[in-house]
Amino acid sequence: MLDLLKECRGAGRIGISGHTRPDGDCVGATLGLWMYLKKCLPEASVEVYLEKPAEIFQKIKGYDEIISDFPVREPFDVFFALDTDAERMGDAGKYFRSAKKTINIDHHLRQSGSGDVNHLDPSSGSTCELIYDLMDEDKMDRDIALALYTGIIHDTGVFQYSCTTPATMQKGAKLIGFGIDFPELIQETFYQKTYVQAQILGRALMESIRFLDGRCIVSSVDRKTLDFYNASFKDLEGIVNQLRNIKGVECAVFMYQTGVLEYKISLRSSEKVNVAEVASFFGGGGHARAAGCTMTGTFHDCVNNLSARIEAQLNDYESAGVI
Ligand code: 5GP
Ligand code: MN
Repeated sequence: MLDLLKECRGAGRIGISGHTRPDGDCVGATLGLWMYLKKCLPEASVEVYLEKPAEIFQKIKGYDEIISDFPVREPFDVFFALDTDAERMGDAGKYFRSAKKTINIDHHLRQSGSGDVNHLDPSSGSTCELIYDLMDEDKMDRDIALALYTGIIHDTGVFQYSCTTPATMQKGAKLIGFGIDFPELIQETFYQKTYVQAQILGRALMESIRFLDGRCIVSSVDRKTLDFYNASFKDLEGIVNQLRNIKGVECAVFMYQTGVLEYKISLRSSEKVNVAEVASFFGGGGHARAAGCTMTGTFHDCVNNLSARIEAQLNDYESAGVI
């Protein structure tokens, strides 16, 4: 088992980062580890580098100290990549590449680690769970608990998705024991939407199209629409889950335009499709039930290409069932 404090022994400057467009697990893991290392290694300087996370996460301690302009820095003694591989770190990748020691902690489905030291476990529902297991429980506190709980609820859909295990629940129980206001946290970071977010969600549902005999559904938001609502990609969180909730849907696809002929794709599946495989085929990744990638082409190009991969999996699954 990776020993966090041993790996950081003697390090004067420690950096922590995650993936681009950080989600709850990424923010919770980076800030949770940041608090823990600052507490256990008071002599070291510890910094978090991330694209600015959504404001819903501002109650997590350290949110205001996240560095999002990625200035030039001397090589770090230790640099952590959490909830990601080296390719998906955006501007923080330069710190990772030049660091004297790199540590990669992740729960995404991958072939190999990106660090000198790697702790990868795709069976874990969240990176926050992995970080929890690497911490000494005696050194945890309420602020660290809030950060880790945030990551766990976001990546398990508040303990609903199949990646939730008895161990996840046990960690959840321990974490709420620190006295965090978990009903407020779940409401404000997971369920609550701004009026604009609700309007875009409504539009995305209304304009969705079913295909493959209703087993799949797709919806897309283009640049013009985002500009009209003065919204950003952070306002689109959760739409794909709503699409997947529709009865009969095995696989939901949500796309938003990131360039003239470029879309960020989010995939969710109920049971029959391994969307990590679909996303990996197009250069992305993720988990069996939730994955993503970036694709180039028109809306129809993307849907046609995705549809072929999804259909092949549905057919395989269904023919296996017949035999
Ligand atoms: P989301 O659809 O919420 O953006 O992402 C779902 C899951 O897939 C998350 O675990 C996320 O980290 C992963 N994911 C999303 N987009 C990409 C991508 O472009 N590359 C990789 N490797 N993983 C992604
Ligand atoms: Mn995660």
